[in-house]
Amino acid sequence: MGNGVDSLVYYNEYNSTLETFSLKYIVDIDGTICYTINSNYEESRPYKDRILRLNGLFDEGHEVHYYTARGSQSGKDWQEFTKAQLDDWGVKYTSVRVGKEHYDKWIDDKAINDKEFFKD
Ligand SMILES: [Mg+2]
Repeated sequence: MGNGVDSLVYYNEYNSTLETFSLKYIVDIDGTICYTINSNYEESRPYKDRILRLNGLFDEGHEVHYYTARGSQSGKDWQEFTKAQLDDWGVKYTSVRVGKEHYDKWIDDKAINDKEFFKD
């Protein structure tokens, strides 16, 4: 780093790293991008501001994977319905998956609470 050439190369490498840097987001559906009472998914109402925010991340090149526990207790397959519902709401996604375990609390060092993530 003693001369200008090395500094320039370093700068360009750093810059290109920033340009290609993308994150992989795993996003819940019910209660996170829509309002759902009990398991009445047909009546779910989208949180449009939250969807726009996540669509923005997708447009910036990040992966946005939607992952839901829909059907994990009832055994009903909600995969196609959920995908069509997200399409109808204008949700941009890398993938839509059912099969998440039903749970009451999720403890994870990388998790962000929805209220925290969408607060501004
Ligand atoms: Mg939820």
